[in-house]
Amino acid sequence: MRDSTAIGYINKNMQENLGRTHMPGTDNNQWFYVLKCGSCGNEYYSNGTDIWQRKCPKCQGGKP
Ligand SMILES: [Zn+2]
Repeated sequence: MRDSTAIGYINKNMQENLGRTHMPGTDNNQWFYVLKCGSCGNEYYSNGTDIWQRKCPKCQGGKP
């Protein structure tokens, strides 16, 4: 399995990892990452630990 925090990683919901931000995340020492939706192009932030299971908040009903 590929590392979900690697740039270019795409999870099962077509959410692509665009890289790490400089903002600390809300989950044990994680950074926020920028994810981009493969369906609608929406970009949003996610904790590193959540990337593998994130859904787009705009078109897939994921949390913001
Ligand atoms: Zn979307």
